[in-house]
Amino acid sequence: MHKISPKENETGRKKRAGLILKELRKLYPDADCALHYRSPFQLLIATILSAQSTDETINKITPVLFAKHGTPKALAAASREKIEELIHASGFFRQKAKSIQGAAQAILDDFGGKVPETIEDLITLPGVARKTANVVMGTAFGKNVGVVVDTHVGRLSTLLAMTWRSKDTKDAVKIERDLMEVIPQQHWTYLSHALIFHGRQVCSARKPDCENCSLANLCPSAGIAESLAINTKTQATTKKAKKSKSA
Ligand code: SF4
Repeated sequence: MHKISPKENETGRKKRAGLILKELRKLYPDADCALHYRSPFQLLIATILSAQSTDETINKITPVLFAKHGTPKALAAASREKIEELIHASGFFRQKAKSIQGAAQAILDDFGGKVPETIEDLITLPGVARKTANVVMGTAFGKNVGVVVDTHVGRLSTLLAMTWRSKDTKDAVKIERDLMEVIPQQHWTYLSHALIFHGRQVCSARKPDCENCSLANLCPSAGIAESLAINTKTQATTKKAKKSKSA
């Protein structure tokens, strides 16, 4: 069993994060993006649409959307009303229609019709922030330039004490920075997919199944996750978890 020191230092943190990664590789060797797509452009559009929605909903919308509007040219040329109708179920459909058509037009105007392959260029596109850019870079282009921090990744990183600078589970910038420090770069894209799998299958927000969790020996929140208010300050959460574990 891996012992979690209440005063875990940087070396200890990295070692434990490495063991968590190893376990995730065993549990979810094929963890990958749940969104369906056939090109970097389609992944970009699906990711923009997935904000405030679920992958399942988006996977129902995109086959119809992409059948006729699956390229930058076709999407930019479509009528706004038609696009709004097709993506209605994703929520915030007016803003999203504007963003995806804006992104398609910008790709045509500024990048010769091809999705750019740098974070800096990607975030110039309408509706694209760092999280979406990270998804495209890691999943479509296989470039590990960051870690995608969604709600599952934010929550699990906090419960697993793989973040220490973040104020809460939604502090994506600091969580990403911490994860990038403890996990080697070649695993960044995988880590995000694997934590999402684990969040869906074992460590759900409503009922973390610590009893049957293979990461329990590496997790300071094991057995007390349900009672933790993980949206409060991370430091307080981690401190409480460690205290309880070492008692
Ligand atoms: S031990 Fe519990 S809190 Fe920790 S990762 Fe597993 S299910 Fe989540």
